[in-house]
Amino acid sequence: MPCLFCRIIAKELPAKVLYEDDYVLAIADINPVAPVHILIMPKKHIARIDSPEAIDCTSALFSAVKQLVALHNLSDPGFRVVTNAGHAGGQSVDHLHLHLLGGRQLTWPPG
Ligand code: AMP
Ligand code: ZN
Repeated sequence: MPCLFCRIIAKELPAKVLYEDDYVLAIADINPVAPVHILIMPKKHIARIDSPEAIDCTSALFSAVKQLVALHNLSDPGFRVVTNAGHAGGQSVDHLHLHLLGGRQLTWPPG
């Protein structure tokens, strides 16, 4: 059974697509925690950032971040990119994704 994000990537499940290229899909988070909350994921199923294949998609993911930051005018005052890994890291979907957060003052450290 493909994972939730693989099903979204395959267009079997709906999502608000904000960016797409051959390697990457970016969608609006269904439960946003900031005015801008975008999930940026490789189209290939990779479980998490420390999976062996994750290094192969870094430039595609970073390129999508750059384009979405520009599109949503986040550069100034700023934004945050995070990726959760595993249970203690708070990962709930086991398909690598970056959270792009912006549009409000973000606090540090996270909980
Ligand atoms: P994480 O907890 O880091 O694995 O992030 C998973 C994110 O996916 C959460 O922020 C959820 O709100 C989001 N999410 C779960 N299901 C969907 C969905 N069907 N469409 C868009 N975002 C989703
Ligand atoms: Zn997947």
